[in-house]
Amino acid sequence: MRATEGLHICGSCRRPFVVHDAIQRAPAGIEQVVVDLRCVDCGWLHTGTYAMSAVEALDLAMDLDEREIRAALEVIEFADQVERIDRFARALELGLITPGDFV
Ligand SMILES: [Zn+2]
Repeated sequence: MRATEGLHICGSCRRPFVVHDAIQRAPAGIEQVVVDLRCVDCGWLHTGTYAMSAVEALDLAMDLDEREIRAALEVIEFADQVERIDRFARALELGLITPGDFV
């Protein structure tokens, strides 16, 4: 199966989870690079020759995805902290936590 036009899109599952592994120079006289692509979702593997600009676009897509994942993680961590505080406050209201619990 071929890689899609946008290298970040998997040639098998069509999801945007492709990363590159090895990048090597193509043989002399060829203006492209040889890239090993791997989908981290379905395990699809592909090796092909691409313009360096396509690989740079993949790097940019990977950077943007990483930022989105980190932002989503921050939201999840914040929501988890809020939930913990709410549960603690509720336990205090119900008298389930007393000063003796901290001795
Ligand atoms: Zn895939």
